[in-house]
Amino acid sequence: MSGSRNATVKRRMSASTGPEAVRHDPEVMIVGGGPAGLSGALLLGRSMRHTLVCDTGQYRNARSRALHGFLSRDGMAPADLLEEARAQVLRYETVRIAPIEVTRIHCLGPLQFSVATRQHGDFRCAAVLVATGTQDAIPDVEGMAACYGISVHVCPYCDGWEHRGGAIAILGNGEKAMRLAILMRQWTPDLVVCTDGPADMDRDCLAELRAGGVALREEKLVALESKMGCLTHLVFADGTRLARQALFLDTGQQTRSKLLEDAGCACGENGIVTDADGQTSLEGLFAAGDITKDVQLAVIAAAEGARAALAINRALARRSTASH
Ligand SMILES: Cc1cc2nc3c(=O)[nH]c(=O)nc-3n(C[C@H](O)[C@H](O)[C@H](O)COP(=O)(O)OP(=O)(O)OC[C@H]3O[C@@H](n4cnc5c(N)ncnc54)[C@H](O)[C@@H]3O)c2cc1C
Repeated sequence: MSGSRNATVKRRMSASTGPEAVRHDPEVMIVGGGPAGLSGALLLGRSMRHTLVCDTGQYRNARSRALHGFLSRDGMAPADLLEEARAQVLRYETVRIAPIEVTRIHCLGPLQFSVATRQHGDFRCAAVLVATGTQDAIPDVEGMAACYGISVHVCPYCDGWEHRGGAIAILGNGEKAMRLAILMRQWTPDLVVCTDGPADMDRDCLAELRAGGVALREEKLVALESKMGCLTHLVFADGTRLARQALFLDTGQQTRSKLLEDAGCACGENGIVTDADGQTSLEGLFAAGDITKDVQLAVIAAAEGARAALAINRALARRSTASH
């Protein structure tokens, strides 16, 4: 993004987020300004809905150098994608984006919410879209942080191509790690699953790994060696080193906020229950993006945000015709 455009976005953001501008109650609040939240904001803004996006700026792929698999944006730096997205959203005077943390959402009735924030007290609005994303569990192993996002990854669709044909390790245990390893044979035949302790896999799992030509290492992983973030070796507790160019993690994640659970939304086995538009069990409270635990790609998050925005606009339109 050019310097002058960047400056324009910053000017528009500060004009739209000063204490006076922020204080007005919006019709819709969006919690989270990643691909899901900003995509929702774009369509709500274009639908003439006064929308406030609250964002703490800790988006999931901040450590990644390049975003892949987003049509027309393949290879773009994640920070540039968000800058560009904010610039486009802020062309609509119906949308404000502010560095605000939402701490609680209270449902006061159908299409009626009170939203508590850390910086500006409580807001009232008719609908809320929660797009607060997830946070990956990064194992506390020496050298891991230096490689994360460069040669340590979480998703083969996002970063598998860049390491195709290379020596790859998977860090994880149980059937899920085995499934990831089998999937990754699409990108390389040279695979090792590191379970960081005794393998928690039944005979079928182990047989599947063997049949797929995937090696297994059960020793404790103590360090990653790298050059400028590019992994060179895994180091195990017994002192042995294994040459690898990339490590894919299957070490878990959690949602970045518990706003939906705390608001009283119904939960199922896989987290918050939503309908096809992302509406939770509370009318007017929606979820989009990684938090829905569906496919976790930026392009899907953006699509979910857009779909939720249309459903919110329809719900508000129905309410205003009903009250006339
Ligand atoms: C290392 C890595 C690389 C990746 N690479 C790719 C890739 O190449 N291609 C791809 O498609 N996907 C990739 N992903 C996945 C991608 O990052 C996510 O699918 C995408 O960011 C999800 O968007 P989102 O809007 O749901 O959440 P996020 O982008 O995580 O945005 C959520 C936002 O909500 C804010 N927030 C959280 N809580 C609050 C609160 N209480 N109040 C206000 N704001 C709050 C956060 O600060 C954050 O800014 C990658 C992920 C990782 C970890």
